[in-house]
Amino acid sequence: MNKADSERLGSALEQLGLHSVTKANDADLVVFNSCVVRQGAEDKVANNLSLMRPLKKQRPDQVVALMGCMVGPKTDELQRRFPHVDLFMRPQQYDPLLNLVGEQLGVDWEGCVGSLAPNQPDVTCYVPIIHGCDLMCTFCIIPYRRGRQVSRPVDEIVGEVELLVQRGVREVTVLGQTVDAYGHDLPEKPDLAHLLTSLNDIPDLLRIRFLTSHPTFMSQRIIQAVADLPKVCEHINLPVQAGDDEILSRMRRPYTSAEYRELVGRIRDTVPGVSLSTDLIVGFPGETEDQFQRSMDMVAELRFSKVHCAAYSTRPGTVAHRAMEDDIPQADKARRLKTVDQLQESILSDINSTLVGQTLEVLVDGHKKGKWRGRTRTDKLVFFDAGGELDGERLGQLVNVKIDDASPWSLQGTPVAVVSSASIHSHGTT
Ligand code: SF4
Repeated sequence: MNKADSERLGSALEQLGLHSVTKANDADLVVFNSCVVRQGAEDKVANNLSLMRPLKKQRPDQVVALMGCMVGPKTDELQRRFPHVDLFMRPQQYDPLLNLVGEQLGVDWEGCVGSLAPNQPDVTCYVPIIHGCDLMCTFCIIPYRRGRQVSRPVDEIVGEVELLVQRGVREVTVLGQTVDAYGHDLPEKPDLAHLLTSLNDIPDLLRIRFLTSHPTFMSQRIIQAVADLPKVCEHINLPVQAGDDEILSRMRRPYTSAEYRELVGRIRDTVPGVSLSTDLIVGFPGETEDQFQRSMDMVAELRFSKVHCAAYSTRPGTVAHRAMEDDIPQADKARRLKTVDQLQESILSDINSTLVGQTLEVLVDGHKKGKWRGRTRTDKLVFFDAGGELDGERLGQLVNVKIDDASPWSLQGTPVAVVSSASIHSHGTT
């Protein structure tokens, strides 16, 4: 979400005539977009902000702004810690900076800035469709910083994606903290299935993804849309957060581990070949070894394509911070994290080895060290040589790649054919 927010602010600034530079020293304006989901992320921003202090002394005219979830309703404490920062902006609150830049340039920015869609997007692009979140998971700071759920209207999103496609985008990932709750707050109550159906009709858009889902809102209509709509990729991130019911309840996640398993089974029955990833927290306050083991059991049983596992990090302002003691020693959290990662690595090693010899459809989105890079419909990262008859500009092409080698983290292959646009309209072989 932060990447999307940064791109959108970047688009507005470019429309005012600014352009990006690679070094902070060369910039007239430096914006930090902050994340506070865990302490480590917050520390990183704080360190980088402190590094700006000597630069700002040398160049007092340079504007330094802090945006994102580090900025709450009150900024006194931040102003005290970072007196060299000129502006503090809450997530997606671009106006104060645009006002300042507009004043400095002597223009009315509202007359100059149109759509915030990135001007020079990559082949793949994030599109926020919901701001905020209506849930209150006890460990999470996001609703306090991003506010209540506000969905963007279907027409506005479709118009933006059409513009992005004109600018070369071939895959969009629509974003929300609970993306499958899309539309619940809009007067006509469209749902994510409705939006995906509208996006599926956009010519020259090749793929659609959505991130991140919440088990509570994953309706059968949405699951069926993933199965039926040719451009919607068969990949769903479905955060479970814990495999133990008591921990789920204390996290205020409104489902049990049995309900989660039932949902996974239903998704797998409805969408053949679907890949599922998840988010998991270890070391939540009071988590016993038995309760941790239940998370391990779930990871072993459900064989996700990815597990985004994090050690619990208390966030001031959350319910868990106020009402629960962060009592799991750091060493235990680190051990549990490592245990999950090791298990997941061996699962991925197994899953990916079964792909060797298969031909998978890859959307090429970049290159690295002489190889093209892209992802399958199920979100596997694939590299292939940029030589032979497929040499040339491949960005944005769908290429069938025969997989020669696999590691837990990526696949290596040989291109066998460029997929014609006609074959885009059937599900891939992944
Ligand atoms: S659903 Fe996600 S964003 Fe919303 S409170 Fe829970 S963890 Fe945070």
